[in-house]
Amino acid sequence: MISDAVIGALKSFVRSENIHTQESMAAHTTFKVGGLADCLVELENTEQLQKVQHYLNQIEMPYVVLGNGSNVLVSDEGYRGVVLQIGNRMNRILVEGNYMIAQAGALLSQVARTAMEHGLTGMEFASGIPGTVGGGVVMNAGAYGGEMSRIVTKVTVVNSEGEILELSNETMEFGYRHSIIKSQPFVVTEVSFELAPGNPETIRATMDELAAKRREKQPLEYPSAGSTFKRPEGHFAGELIMKAGLRGFQIGGARVSDKHCGFVINTGDATAADVRNLIREIQARVKEKFQVDLEPEVIFLGKFS
Ligand SMILES: Cc1cc2nc3c(=O)[nH]c(=O)nc-3n(C[C@H](O)[C@H](O)[C@H](O)COP(=O)(O)OP(=O)(O)OC[C@H]3O[C@@H](n4cnc5c(N)ncnc54)[C@H](O)[C@@H]3O)c2cc1C
Repeated sequence: MISDAVIGALKSFVRSENIHTQESMAAHTTFKVGGLADCLVELENTEQLQKVQHYLNQIEMPYVVLGNGSNVLVSDEGYRGVVLQIGNRMNRILVEGNYMIAQAGALLSQVARTAMEHGLTGMEFASGIPGTVGGGVVMNAGAYGGEMSRIVTKVTVVNSEGEILELSNETMEFGYRHSIIKSQPFVVTEVSFELAPGNPETIRATMDELAAKRREKQPLEYPSAGSTFKRPEGHFAGELIMKAGLRGFQIGGARVSDKHCGFVINTGDATAADVRNLIREIQARVKEKFQVDLEPEVIFLGKFS
């Protein structure tokens, strides 16, 4: 629980309607599971973020950053502390020649669409990834041969002292589903991209083709966080899970997708514990059968037993 005094202080930095107490995290994650966060604050700009962060550091209140919640599993107990959401209140997109500057809360799909409308190619791969620009950069999201690291030129972040830093592509330490921000308490506020001139019709056709591929191969009709595991070197996670006989394997309401074994899906009434336990069981069985360690791509938030 967060005291009225803390909520009162937060209200001096952020509009009241953007402060939510006892907020269900199921409503903010694509897995659609997770308990209550003590408080969720929707941020509108960098100044608000700096003030809120400074205050939370001062009172030693734990906080965590959330984008669109499409790569996280929040515990059934929720989150004790403050969730800082960089989402649709920070989603401005600017286009300057071959460059785009997007606020961290813009959805990748919106940025990809804007690129297409301005005849810019290079962002098509991201049009079906349901995350924000901030989350996409943190995770170095990628698909169909594209990856954020190939188009990002500069990332603006706020560090834990509230200072604004500009990180070049090289300083981001991009790797497979990795960036420096996974190990640093930086909050991404803005990202610059360099794209190339292209034909809008061709770009649209590519995006449509990739969307059709996703619909065909992925269980988009169920809540999930996308691929549950990272690709283990020399293998495909989904294939190993299928060969371990786990297609359709279920714990509670969490199930290995019949359509794509690399996805754990919520069939409707899954708890976070169901999902966590299923992930553990998959890891154990794949390890036993193939001696391969599957590392979750999904990020766990809150306490899990
Ligand atoms: C159906 C489906 C398909 C998917 N397909 C793909 C795919 O093809 N390729 C792929 O790579 N991923 C895919 N994903 C996973 C996910 O969409 C990506 O990882 C995405 O980049 C996460 O962005 P987000 O805004 O939702 O981040 P969140 O899930 O909200 O957060 C992810 C992590 O980033 C941190 N974070 C978020 N925003 C910020 C910020 N502004 N500053 C600092 N830290 C931040 C969070 O603290 C958390 O640690 C898919 C997910 C789903 C549900």
